[in-house]
Amino acid sequence: MSNESTKIPQATAKRLPLYYRFLKNLHASGKQRVSSAELSEAVKVDSATIRRDFSYFGALGKKGYGYNVNYLLGFFRKTLDQDEVTKVALIGVGNLGTAFLNYNFLKNNNTKIEVAFDVSESRVGTSVGEVPVRHLDDLEKLIDEHHIQVVILTVPSHAAQPITDRIVKSHVKGILNFTPARLTVPSHIRIHHIDLAVELQSLVYFLKHYPS
Ligand code: ATP
Repeated sequence: MSNESTKIPQATAKRLPLYYRFLKNLHASGKQRVSSAELSEAVKVDSATIRRDFSYFGALGKKGYGYNVNYLLGFFRKTLDQDEVTKVALIGVGNLGTAFLNYNFLKNNNTKIEVAFDVSESRVGTSVGEVPVRHLDDLEKLIDEHHIQVVILTVPSHAAQPITDRIVKSHVKGILNFTPARLTVPSHIRIHHIDLAVELQSLVYFLKHYPS
């Protein structure tokens, strides 16, 4: 959420995605305005609460007119970060890393791999999927310059923890770990482990032992 929205009470903030989804549908069907009564019926929130919620973000409905759908949509998009792209870095441009760099994440959600890192001389200085590959020595500097928030780790297992120890000292908030290494991070960093070999093995096990 943007700074602007931090003043909104949490209960109101929780209802925003609900309003947003409904307004998007309204907009798609060509509707330009909506009353609090209509909104109330659709999202099952009483209209007094809706009026109070909307007043926090400066949307004051007019009597007999209702709310302007476009204005509300614009506000929700900003508040819910739908306009903001999360910047990602990838470390380890091997087979898996290369596949990720060639995959256009922006197509499906608001993330973009801005920069990649490796130590191999044959890779550093090249571009893969239009993403520049830089030397790991420049990790801290470039994470800072690109405002990277999330890191994807596709290095060999033995390299994962030492690199993680460097990442956690930056302002990175999350790590997507594709190495089999179980990584230790401080509590303010969110880490998701995805071990493709284990996932595949587990699927095969379930197919064998729990056939449908
Ligand atoms: P390939 O062997 O074809 O590169 P791979 O995915 O099997 O594919 P890995 O040995 O897993 O290769 O290494 C993945 C990538 O991570 C390689 O490009 C390698 O150069 C890079 N790498 C290895 N050690 C480090 C490190 N300490 N920091 C950053 N990148 C590293």
